[in-house]
Amino acid sequence: MTAPRPYQICSRCILDTNDYPEIEFDNDGICNICRTFDKLRATQVFEKEAGEKKLNELLANIRQSSKGKPYDCLLTLSGGTDSSYLAYLCKQWKLNPLVLHVDNGWNSELAVKNIEELVKRLGFDLYTFVIDWQELRDLQIAYFKSSVIDLDIPSENALLGAFFRVCRKYRLKYLLSGHNVMTEGWLPPNFTSQYKLDTMNLRAIQKKYGTVKLKKYPSIGFFRYQYYTRLCGIKFVNPLNFVEYNKEEAKRILKDELDWQEYGAKHYENVFTRFYQGYILPEKYGVDKRKAHLSTLICSDQLTRNEALKIAAAPPYSDPELLQSDKNFLLKKLGMSDSDFELFMKTAPVPHSAFPSYLKYYRKLSPLVRRIKSVFRSPESSSSLQS
Ligand SMILES: [Zn+2]
Repeated sequence: MTAPRPYQICSRCILDTNDYPEIEFDNDGICNICRTFDKLRATQVFEKEAGEKKLNELLANIRQSSKGKPYDCLLTLSGGTDSSYLAYLCKQWKLNPLVLHVDNGWNSELAVKNIEELVKRLGFDLYTFVIDWQELRDLQIAYFKSSVIDLDIPSENALLGAFFRVCRKYRLKYLLSGHNVMTEGWLPPNFTSQYKLDTMNLRAIQKKYGTVKLKKYPSIGFFRYQYYTRLCGIKFVNPLNFVEYNKEEAKRILKDELDWQEYGAKHYENVFTRFYQGYILPEKYGVDKRKAHLSTLICSDQLTRNEALKIAAAPPYSDPELLQSDKNFLLKKLGMSDSDFELFMKTAPVPHSAFPSYLKYYRKLSPLVRRIKSVFRSPESSSSLQS
């Protein structure tokens, strides 16, 4: 047996050997997640004049693509800071997006209120895509039973599938998302999974543990993603990478000008995500996603390391009553008993690779895929499924 590696924490961010056992440090004690952030910032974020140029090009292309259509583009809105601020910017840019909100059954009342208020004040049309709850619920329970780490996949895959379906329905070429490098950065690989688009993995988990057939569930896999982006020419763009984006400043503007209300932490507009990230991930999988999010804010100079350490030292759920009420809500909504949930929490995590997967084949073909991608890659198109 090899001895456990000595404890080390990054000298720049707050990730350490406990968070990510494979973390690597350079001679200055800076970790490889920080270095990945720097690379992403250098390649995907355009600041000052370069950002202005990039943004103007993008806006011109969006307007050109929407001539004769009722909307310029599709804007996905979760009600969180990033997408809400992007909605605000669209108004400043004089774009007329169709705003898409996906109702997966888990949005907090506050999120729904924020979304309704935003579109009303900005004068945009709202399209709500409702995911069939019986199917989503069955798939979510199947993921719990499988004990794989990425319990977000049933919801996230449907979300992405809904984005592209609505974009296609309205013949829109641009799909705008609030994803951005400066506040979302990069996650250590053990914090999430690479199986977001792996529909073989999803269907295998559903086949083993699910009870209903997925008929209406809007799944999207590697091939369908290629179909929408390559054949239909839909561009998934993240315009916040082209503006000076400061989260606190964005919140202030949203509160002052649009009566938007804050949620407390990233993605906490959604009760499932709040409980998953605040309780299940740290307790069962040893993952505290806040540490990655806070580390990104340090790297983008939006938070000091000391402030981040202080926030991370507090428990993810500062209010035990909220923890209990979220747990009760989640179990009741999923129809899961307390004992089933306790059993899930006690069962050892199972890797996604324990189930059939496209990723295995994809990895074998990846050198070829990379070559093809480099030929077709559009410079303004970049997307990440990390959240
Ligand atoms: Zn670091």
